[in-house]
Amino acid sequence: MIIDTHCHLDFEQFASDRKDTISQAEKAGVLYFINVGASLHGSRESVRLAAEYKNIFASVGIHPHHATGDTEGALGEIEALAAGKKVVAIGEVGLDYYKSPSLPPVQKKLFVKFIGLSRRLGLPLIIHNRSADCDTLSILKSECAGPVHGVLHCFSGERTFLTKALDMGLFISFTCNLTFKNAGNLREVAKYVPLDRVLLETDAPFLAPQAKRGKRNEPAYITELRDGLSEILGISKDEVEKVTSENAKKLFKLNI
Ligand SMILES: [Zn+2]
Ligand SMILES: [Zn+2]
Repeated sequence: MIIDTHCHLDFEQFASDRKDTISQAEKAGVLYFINVGASLHGSRESVRLAAEYKNIFASVGIHPHHATGDTEGALGEIEALAAGKKVVAIGEVGLDYYKSPSLPPVQKKLFVKFIGLSRRLGLPLIIHNRSADCDTLSILKSECAGPVHGVLHCFSGERTFLTKALDMGLFISFTCNLTFKNAGNLREVAKYVPLDRVLLETDAPFLAPQAKRGKRNEPAYITELRDGLSEILGISKDEVEKVTSENAKKLFKLNI
C-alpha cells in the first residue's frame, strides 16, 4: 500500500478525469491521498474532495507564491477549515524565492502565522521550500520551541541542509524528481534519510517521473518513485511501501 502524501487533485488538470485518475492510482496500489491546498480556494476544494472520497485526506494552507500582505480574512477561513475532521495538516506553506511573484518579507510573515496555527491546532506542517533553505530553517527554529512537527515536501536540498532538517525533527518527502536522469546529486543525498523519516509524494500534476517526463503527473506514477527509492536505500519495494506508509500514518495521525 502506498500513500501519496502530497497531491493537488483539485487542480483544473484533473477536472475532466479526476475519478479515473483516482481509480488508476488505486490499481497501482495508492490507497490513500493527502490533497494539499495551495491557496484559499485550493484549501476549500481539498476539504470538499476529502468529503467526497473516503480515501482522500485534506491539508489546508497558502503556497508562498500566493502570499499577499492582506491574508487576515484568508487565515481566519483556513483556521475554520482546519477544524474539519479529515484535515490532517497545515500546508502547503513556506518560502519560495525562485521567481516568486510574492516578496520574501511578505512570505516570511505569512509562514510565521501558519507555523503558529499549526502549533495551536496540533497539526503537522507541510513545508514548501525553494531557494530559501537558510530562512526556512531559521524561521522554524525561532518559531518552534523543540522539534518541528512537519515535513519538508519535495526535498531537493544538499546533505548539510538534510542533516539540519533531520536534527530539527522534520520528516523528508521525495517527489518523482528523484527519478530524473540528472538527479544524481539528489539520489546521493537521499541515501542518508533514515527509514523512519521518509515519505512519498507526487505533487501531481507537477513533476512527472523520468518515464513520463513532460506529461501531467498522476498519483499512479508514484510507483516509479517507490522503485527508485528502493534502489537508493537498498531495501525491497515492499519495504519502501511499508516504512513510508507507517511514517505517513504517524505524522498525519491517519485513522486508517
Ligand atoms: Zn510545493
Ligand atoms: Zn504542492
